Amino acid sequence: MARTRVLSVASEIYPIIKTGGLADVVGALPNALARESIDVSTLVPGYRPVLDAVQGATTVLVLDDVFGGPGRILAANAAGLDLLVLDAPHLFDRFGGPYIGPDGNDWPDNAFRFAALARTGAQIGAGAIENFRPDIVHVHDWQAALVPAYLHYSGRRGPATVMTIHNLAFAGRFAPDLLPALGFSPAAYAVDGLEYYGSISFLKAGLQFADRITTVSPTYALEIATPEHGMGFDGLLRARGARFSGILNGIDDDVWDPARDPYIAATYDAARIAARSRNTAALRRRFALAEDPTALLVGVVSRLSWQKGLDLLLETLPRFVGRGIQLAVLGAGDAPLEGGFAAAVAAYPGRVGVYIGYDEAVAHLVQAGADVVLVPSRFEPCGLTQLCALRYGAIPVVARVGGLADTIIDANEMALAAGVATGLQFAPPTSDALDSALVRASVLFAQRPIWERMQRNAMNTDVSWTRSGSQYARLYRAALDAHE
Ligand code: ADP
Repeated sequence: MARTRVLSVASEIYPIIKTGGLADVVGALPNALARESIDVSTLVPGYRPVLDAVQGATTVLVLDDVFGGPGRILAANAAGLDLLVLDAPHLFDRFGGPYIGPDGNDWPDNAFRFAALARTGAQIGAGAIENFRPDIVHVHDWQAALVPAYLHYSGRRGPATVMTIHNLAFAGRFAPDLLPALGFSPAAYAVDGLEYYGSISFLKAGLQFADRITTVSPTYALEIATPEHGMGFDGLLRARGARFSGILNGIDDDVWDPARDPYIAATYDAARIAARSRNTAALRRRFALAEDPTALLVGVVSRLSWQKGLDLLLETLPRFVGRGIQLAVLGAGDAPLEGGFAAAVAAYPGRVGVYIGYDEAVAHLVQAGADVVLVPSRFEPCGLTQLCALRYGAIPVVARVGGLADTIIDANEMALAAGVATGLQFAPPTSDALDSALVRASVLFAQRPIWERMQRNAMNTDVSWTRSGSQYARLYRAALDAHE
């Protein structure tokens, strides 16, 4: 079978540049798809850390004018990934984050920075690099979503296009009068173009013009096709019908492997779960929690933002602590939430421990040591934390939304009787429902054989990329067939 060639276009890629789960997915897809006879090259912006990672790269295309300055495309293999890098120093070679400058605000030229990424992606898709003509261009989130629009308005026949929504909350919204400068005719400011509630939206361009649209879980796909959760895109998503679907993310099961994890106090697997208790003891020490092995130890690894619902946890803390439960929180984000958790440590010493910051090693220890990992998100496109928790035998307690609903089997009567439960779900996302779920978890925790069965079920769940890789491969084939 001939190999399929895919150009993936994204604003971040693990392990080179990451602000969230998007990078994990973009970094994992090439390996997952290689097994399916699909070769993926990924086009990313030449931010400073990216340029550092591809020293010695070859120039494969020179670009005279990339919105106000010269640029070029570099090709390199870095961290096992085939990369194409848009080196346009006036847009990307600066000190700061991919989207936000040192002053904490969005870069003022973000429209041009990501239009440049997308326009270059469209050019490469149309064959601008010699001997590299992709069959498919796969674009991720608003930063890459103009690719299908540039291809559409060019009027020429291009490659098939696939757009993946990792988070609908980011629409890439800008002023309509930018259209000509971005290389579009004013006519693109239309309902069946880029228009979005008096603005233009890069994300909408992808949803409008990509041959296929995916998002990162089947339940999130259903949710965002409703007016309640669709952020104004639901009508368009419904209109795209069967060309819109959900494919779950996986995790890297080499990075997340309790049998070989260098960050944890004791390695273990599903057949040796007892060894896990050494990690629980290490986690208590790390978070200055009282040595109380009979207490249920709840862990959190999360961005601290409204989406993640951790204000609900703060709200229920007095009840939570009153039930003898302990809490270890690793997270960073919104100042009021950071402050709230810091205050909780002072209010409940030995019962609540908090580490404010982003730390891979501590994240692994929380997963390996916590009895429960709590994910009370108000919305969650897929979620990776609960997948790590499954793999580490930390029972996920999750809000029944998006990918959380799709990946955790709730310990209801029938699931327990059938011996298939892997965690607990609660709804709606309120502090009362969260509290009830933790009461349920405590009751199950006290029944060791049932709890250990759930831990084994969790650890035996396939959270790798294998299944999702073949679903993307099928989707690509469908997109290609329809594009013939
Ligand atoms: P999102 O992309 O919305 O932040 P996901 O659950 O999809 O949420 O992915 C977040 C990833 O980042 C997970 O792998 C999680 O373990 C990790 N993570 C989040 N916060 C931290 C932190 N403070 N320290 C270490 N890892 C974190």
